[in-house]
Amino acid sequence: MVTYREDALQLRAIQFQYRRHGTAVLTLPWLRVGVHIHPTCFTLLWCWYGKRHHQVVRRVSRLLVECPSCGRRCARLYCADPTVGFLCYRCAGLKLKRWRRNGYDRVPVRPEAWLKWLERQVAKSAKAKERGADGTKRAERGADA
Ligand SMILES: [Zn+2]
Repeated sequence: MVTYREDALQLRAIQFQYRRHGTAVLTLPWLRVGVHIHPTCFTLLWCWYGKRHHQVVRRVSRLLVECPSCGRRCARLYCADPTVGFLCYRCAGLKLKRWRRNGYDRVPVRPEAWLKWLERQVAKSAKAKERGADGTKRAERGADA
């Protein structure tokens, strides 16, 4: 069950544009994520209900990272569900038209609909990971590029 989070944690590539090495911490009231910064990728580490999670996010350029799920280049990744990790707004189900600005962060116009959509996406992405289809899809994309 995915819980709706108004303050989905964001990884913004621009925050790290001049940092090629080192560590940082992304903090929100409900989650702290350690970031190991490498020239070509970020390693993200966090703990959720006693379970450790980690994720590697490829760095495309100073301002762009690659979505771990679909391989799309994007400026920021969102963590709507800590058991899944960071995804681009499309994979995380954060359709921009459905979101409005509240001055600082985006908030869904219809949280219930957004939540249903997000659950479907999370289930889909979890299935894809189990099958390993995720990896092959990314490899194909890499070959195209
Ligand atoms: Zn994606």
